[in-house]
Amino acid sequence: MFIFDAHLDLAMNAMEWNRDLTLPVSEIREREKGKTDKPDRGNTTVSFPAMRKGNVGLCVATQIARYVKKENPLPGWHSQHQAWAQTQGQLAWYKAMEKAREMVQIRDTEGLENHFKLWESNKGKKTIGYILSLEGADSIVDLSYLEKSHESGLRAIGPAHYGPGVYAHGTDSVGGIGVKGRELLKKIEELNLILDATHLCDMSFWETMDVYNGPVWASHQLCRKFVDHNRQFSDEQLKELISRKAVIGIALDAWMMVPNWVRGKSDPKEMGVNLEIMINNMDHICQLAGNTNHVGIGTDLDGGFGTEQGPYDVDTISDLQKIPALLSQRGYSETDIQKITSQNFINFLKRVWR
Ligand SMILES: [Zn+2]
Repeated sequence: MFIFDAHLDLAMNAMEWNRDLTLPVSEIREREKGKTDKPDRGNTTVSFPAMRKGNVGLCVATQIARYVKKENPLPGWHSQHQAWAQTQGQLAWYKAMEKAREMVQIRDTEGLENHFKLWESNKGKKTIGYILSLEGADSIVDLSYLEKSHESGLRAIGPAHYGPGVYAHGTDSVGGIGVKGRELLKKIEELNLILDATHLCDMSFWETMDVYNGPVWASHQLCRKFVDHNRQFSDEQLKELISRKAVIGIALDAWMMVPNWVRGKSDPKEMGVNLEIMINNMDHICQLAGNTNHVGIGTDLDGGFGTEQGPYDVDTISDLQKIPALLSQRGYSETDIQKITSQNFINFLKRVWR
């Protein structure tokens, strides 16, 4: 079954983790053996061959770079200009991957239709479609930079990531969006970009909903009902998103899937982290919505963790092909399963880009 993954940090892996994603996962792991500079060395789950094997033919791929003020202990750049330059290096990698026919950027309905035709008919090395997104808006020095990004194909943007950002407060921080945040949201609406609500803290989330009227999704998200932490959305937040025709992509990061996960210590098997938990989250959103129109997949499988912090039944991203059978066991019909694995996000894009 065709799979749409609404959140992968592909360029971050290429440019910061130094991974050649054109190689099989096994080769990337092999070369990282013995390295300890990142917690997920030797454990990666994502590369282009694995995506092709798993029929993950379309994804939302990010640019990401944080700006940190002096008092912010999080890792990040010391100026917004540096953060911008980092995202431009990432963009250059995407462009190089396009030239190598590994990837193709999708920026409108026509591109979407063409991509599906090519994906089905191409018997050789299939070109993976990507929609460009910015995770955390710190690198937008001023709004002219957002216009520039839009021209480069940017189609979605999350105002914040972790901590206090320039335009909003993200995960594990508390605060609103301020004047700058409001101006950013206005520009997002004007450019018909998709707002990614993932990572907004509660206060910034609700302030955003007060002023924003454009398209919104949550690209890599789980439900607070199962793991009570500000990174997950409450039922009220999920209902708000559903009322705005959002699609919510379910992520596969272990600490957000089960309570009491301790990074670097807990073991997926011991903690019972498997794809069933993803299905529980999907089912919960379907129950809240009363239909199957608002949930999809947004794995974040390369978001700074690998097999050490993912479901034990996912060795590589190609294992997403286990999802249809798991949904079927829960009574989901073939049509529902197609909607969840790709069609909901595709319909969303077609509506927004019309
Ligand atoms: Zn994220």
